[in-house]
Amino acid sequence: MSARPLAVFGGTFDPVHIGHLTVAWEAAELLDAEVRLMPANVPPHRAAPLASAAERVAMLRAALAGQSRLVLDARELERDGPSYTIDTLIELRAEQDDRSLVLLLGADAFAGLPTWHCWRELFDVAHIGVLSRPGVPAALSDELLHEVVPRRSYDVDALRHQPAGMVIELTVTPLEISATRIRELLAAGRDPRYLLPVGLFDTPALLAPYRD
Ligand code: ATP
Repeated sequence: MSARPLAVFGGTFDPVHIGHLTVAWEAAELLDAEVRLMPANVPPHRAAPLASAAERVAMLRAALAGQSRLVLDARELERDGPSYTIDTLIELRAEQDDRSLVLLLGADAFAGLPTWHCWRELFDVAHIGVLSRPGVPAALSDELLHEVVPRRSYDVDALRHQPAGMVIELTVTPLEISATRIRELLAAGRDPRYLLPVGLFDTPALLAPYRD
């Protein structure tokens, strides 16, 4: 088995912000993993993004320029219909043999896992790395706890040597930044300069979808 896990960080990235990049980077370091940022096409469980798929990819490319630890993987945008995470992970599992695969989720996304399509099957193909996020209530539902408690691990090495099936909490720098708040600021004509990756300001058109 390859020593370095492959971690997948999915999201709407509408727009990608410093919170995303910081926690993805720290997860890459904590797990010694390759991390792929994977923008979702038609998120099955939420409202459509303001920016188009192509615009969100352009922002991600600008944000990720100049480093190689975080990589863009736009495969879900190439698929028709809703992007179900289980389908993506099954596809990655087939490509990666028995390499350790980690789905990275912010604590809010993790708490909502039981609303996802085929969520219990995610553990057959990947581990889950839960990224701490401020402002998220600590309580998890009974059905989620039932699945998660026996899978909890505190040992990154154990996770590295098994392809799937564990849940690990990753304590990352708490940054109370959300794309919702950034969209609100931009719509109000404000300039959230230091909440966004610097590359997004090099091309003014990148943030046009959010300005009124
Ligand atoms: P929105 O405000 O539009 O809901 P968001 O800021 O939560 O967006 P998403 O693209 O929906 O961003 O999130 C993608 C993933 O990143 C999710 O797993 C989410 O929990 C996680 N995430 C986003 N911001 C943070 C943050 N500041 N700290 C930790 N995790 C985060």
